[in-house]
Amino acid sequence: MVIAISVQKLDHYFGQGQLRRQVLFELKLAINTGEIVIMTGPSGSGKTTLLTLVGGLRSVQSGSLQVLGQEFRGATPQQLTQARKHHGYIFQAHNLHGSLTALQNVKMGLELHRELAPAEMKARSIAMLEQVGLGEHINYYPDALSGGQKQRVAIARALVNRPKLVLADEPTAALDRKSGRDVVNLMQALAKEQGCTILLVTHDNRILDVADRIIHMEDGILGYCQLNQKLESSY
Ligand code: ADP
Ligand code: MG
Repeated sequence: MVIAISVQKLDHYFGQGQLRRQVLFELKLAINTGEIVIMTGPSGSGKTTLLTLVGGLRSVQSGSLQVLGQEFRGATPQQLTQARKHHGYIFQAHNLHGSLTALQNVKMGLELHRELAPAEMKARSIAMLEQVGLGEHINYYPDALSGGQKQRVAIARALVNRPKLVLADEPTAALDRKSGRDVVNLMQALAKEQGCTILLVTHDNRILDVADRIIHMEDGILGYCQLNQKLESSY
């Protein structure tokens, strides 16, 4: 099986001088193509930091991080921007633009794909909104949508470019039980259909069953855990 994400001896630090503090410690992780991996762990343990590194949203300082076959350590900002074309990123808060309609927000997901004609962008975005059950709401502004609907727009925006990799940071945190469930089911179905790899951070125990594998971050150290099994360190 082809490895989608490979992490070796990855450290990360925040701050300068005396304030410099290590937040990730010698992480080691391999995720296969098509795998759905959930990362759990307490607040402040380093989950978002790892996700943003994998997403090419911050630079790798030490160790190795390969994403979709590309080494991110030493990559230029241009190379990272290029790499992000293959990613769909779903944030905890939906991060929609309030001044744009659902359709315009989803089209933003195609902004790195300048080769597409405007009509094609529009058609793809509408089809994606229909797939997430928002075909009737394409011209609504975020304020007129519920929390679950907004998060579904954010998912449509992340998936509209048919990414090879989906990174989701607590995508259900702001949702009620039913909307949260709907959102992960949707992500799972779309991922399986498009054959993409998913790395999802969550505190939400109710959605763990969508994962092929669960990993656990604690104080910047990654461990592996199975449901109902004791946490086991990776070393
Ligand atoms: P999690 O997502 O698991 O809650 P984070 O990755 O956001 O954890 O944070 C890990 C640690 O790094 C925390 O102690 C946090 O305060 C710190 N941190 C996160 N982002 C920054 C930043 N931009 N500058 C300085 N410290 C940060
Ligand atoms: Mg976080």
